[in-house]
Amino acid sequence: MASNNNEQLNAICCDGPRGFRPWHQAEAAHLVLAYQEQRLPHALILVGPQYVEKTHFAREFAQFLLCASPVNGIACSQCKSCQLCIAGTHPDWINVEPEEPRKVLRVDTIRQVQARLQQTAQQGGNKVCVISPAEQMNENAANALLKILEEPPANTYFLLVAHHASKILPTIISRCQRLSFAIPAQDKIVDWLGDDFTKEAIQQAIEKGRGFPGRVYQLLNGGVDTQLDMSRLDAFFSGRETAQDIAKNIDSSQLPDFLDGFLRLASYSVKISQGDTNAAANNSILSQLPASELHQIYDRVATAKIALAQNANPRLLLESLLLQCLAIYSNFNS
Ligand SMILES: [Zn+2]
Repeated sequence: MASNNNEQLNAICCDGPRGFRPWHQAEAAHLVLAYQEQRLPHALILVGPQYVEKTHFAREFAQFLLCASPVNGIACSQCKSCQLCIAGTHPDWINVEPEEPRKVLRVDTIRQVQARLQQTAQQGGNKVCVISPAEQMNENAANALLKILEEPPANTYFLLVAHHASKILPTIISRCQRLSFAIPAQDKIVDWLGDDFTKEAIQQAIEKGRGFPGRVYQLLNGGVDTQLDMSRLDAFFSGRETAQDIAKNIDSSQLPDFLDGFLRLASYSVKISQGDTNAAANNSILSQLPASELHQIYDRVATAKIALAQNANPRLLLESLLLQCLAIYSNFNS
């Protein structure tokens, strides 16, 4: 849906401290200068893995573009525009994201954006449209956006955020200036969070979150999303999902938690298969297997954990693990 409710952005980027992140300073300075010299392109695409705070960057830069009196290249946080941005009610900020995390963005949504852009800026300055994640536009939506980008309205800036740029129409990418974002150096994450957490706690979270700052922040603030949905494994073993389906929906920062959950599931399943009724609350399709097969699965998962720590390709590792476990499951059931 298209909305001017910027609070929705918090679902994608973590809502940590305001201001550009320490590892985004160079990109921010580059864009601010381009804007001040009136050579900022009307469309930017921010590309990089999930959890490196790209959406946060887009949000901060959007506020800068809307601020009536920025100070040293940073939104002032005081003017009426900034107050509206902070409240999530700025009428000239159009925020586009799927209603649910993995749903597609449809053409109706982009048509609503177009209608909003035809109106005069209500605060008399720029208009900004943030689309995140842009790869979730379906083909019709992408083509509708392309038409807007081909003849952009005056004083309007598009900030597209993409975790997987390869899934976006090349014709859209060619209309945008591309900015790449990577996992930052660990000392930048410590700079960012060092006032609120001890160095040891940050270091532990960096290890567990594999260096992705958004995950590190989540882990330090109560570990949101560490409980991954293990029912997907049941869907996989019963043939309703493929290994590729599961692997593409678990990003590399979540994989250690997923493997830990898988190990726990295998242990519980051994207990259930041995008649332990206390474990039955964690019932899974795997508990139909005898302990000997479950031990094989446990060993495969434990081996995958070690390979992951040694920098194996996360997606290939998970696909291969799932197929090995499926072979064990299918052998017993055939
Ligand atoms: Zn301001």
